[in-house]
Amino acid sequence: MIVVSITGPSLAQALRQMAQSAPYADMFELRLDLLGGSRALSLIRTRRKPVIATCRRRTEGGRFTGNRAELLAILSQAAQHGAAFVDIDLNAAAIISAFRNAHPGSSIILSYHHLGRGSPNVSGLYKRMSLVDADILKFAYTARDAADMQFAEEFIARASAGKRKAVAVAMGEFGEASRVLYAKLGSWATYAAPMDGAAAAPGQIPAKLLDRLYRARSVNSATKIFGVIGNPLKQSKGIFLHNPLFRFHAVNAVYCRFPVADVAAFMQRCAPLLHGFSVTIPHKQTIMNFLDMLDETAQAIGAVNTVVRKRGKWYGTNTDAAGALDAIEKTQRVRGKRVLVLGAGGAARAIAYEAKRRGADVFIANRTEQKAKRLAREFGLTVIALQNLSEVPFDILANATSVGMVPHVNESPVPTSLLRNKVVFDAVYNPPLTRLLRDAQRVGARIVPGTEMYLNQAALQFELYTGVKPAMSVMRRILARSWETRS
Ligand code: NAP
Repeated sequence: MIVVSITGPSLAQALRQMAQSAPYADMFELRLDLLGGSRALSLIRTRRKPVIATCRRRTEGGRFTGNRAELLAILSQAAQHGAAFVDIDLNAAAIISAFRNAHPGSSIILSYHHLGRGSPNVSGLYKRMSLVDADILKFAYTARDAADMQFAEEFIARASAGKRKAVAVAMGEFGEASRVLYAKLGSWATYAAPMDGAAAAPGQIPAKLLDRLYRARSVNSATKIFGVIGNPLKQSKGIFLHNPLFRFHAVNAVYCRFPVADVAAFMQRCAPLLHGFSVTIPHKQTIMNFLDMLDETAQAIGAVNTVVRKRGKWYGTNTDAAGALDAIEKTQRVRGKRVLVLGAGGAARAIAYEAKRRGADVFIANRTEQKAKRLAREFGLTVIALQNLSEVPFDILANATSVGMVPHVNESPVPTSLLRNKVVFDAVYNPPLTRLLRDAQRVGARIVPGTEMYLNQAALQFELYTGVKPAMSVMRRILARSWETRS
């Protein structure tokens, strides 16, 4: 069940939130403390969906300033107006028996919000909550890392052993996956925001995304979990590509964001739930210490961007290298050509290695020349100083620096005069048409955008995850749509 938290703060805004999220909601939670108390009770009958009436006090992360008697009064009025559930915090559990006696037809959600910095004592908390006469037990806490999802798992496991219905929510961006995977974890419901920017709690996902993108309600015990690890992940587009692709190819799987601070903790406490994952900055190197096998490409490049579980073992590979070169070779084969790679970071390593492997003569230039020299020694490349680029008669230019990426969209790593009649590839994919590519187009160069590399590496990942070769035309359409919605 998807419960959409209605936060207003005006009644008109609340009505709009209810109307907009109704197609994706199974229930509404009316945050009476944010909606001005009893004047919001009229909203309960607005839509034909069950309502949870919640009135959180300041100590519980809400705005209600009344005492317990006033809390009991407002929740009683909500029940009289037809609220199917009331949410009562563990700290106010003393009002429960009075509420039960007066409203035997309403159900009670007993909730507890762990707002402190330390780890929650789940076993002690569950013991206390299980002694209270409530229909559903709800536990929310702030996740400090993706691995903290284990507290939600533990709470739900205890509740299920005690045959109690329960909800567990890891709040904040580190807990996002717990909201998507609620059904897999055995949670009674997940709480969603009515729309972007109207979340009642940190990390709440808009209901439309939970329903349409993640298909959170369809996640079941057979659903395979994939995702991306990195930090930060706000800009990561993988969820917008892999989830629609799973749907198109009828694969029972879901792809989530796992912002990870501590890779070791993730591998120990979270990864066992997953069948595979993508790896992005800053963990492409660190992850290698935790894998059972690396293929030749990942080993040579010294970075892993894809991890899959095969017969209980973690296997790491790198799809960036083939992704970039397949994109370039659609326009120009690299065998026997001179390829000038700009940069000496992760993308440059992958591109230079693969270009060389495919028979190109590779030159490398980087702002920090020492790094270019190191890379050149490792892979057998020729270093060139940035100010001497005009001396290299290259055929293909591959930008693997982040120059030109948002927000610096008007920057280019090289002067336009160098680009005439060349093939110009830019690894930067945000924006899709960078200043470098626009300059190249103007002087008649053939261009290869970074989105092509992105699509190729994601297609290879999808195949490794599912065994299905994805339809590139569909991927292209999905990616274009995701750009439209983001701009
Ligand atoms: P990285 O490891 O951090 O390397 C960044 C590179 O950019 C370094 O060589 C750095 O030079 C250089 N650089 C940064 N700012 C610069 C500036 N102002 N002037 C000159 N050089 C500058 O990053 P990465 O993972 O290689 O990624 C590089 C780019 O490729 C990013 O834009 C990323 O989004 C893109 N990428 C795209 C795909 C795709 O699928 N299309 C995949 C991976 C990466 P120094 O060594 O001097 O710092």
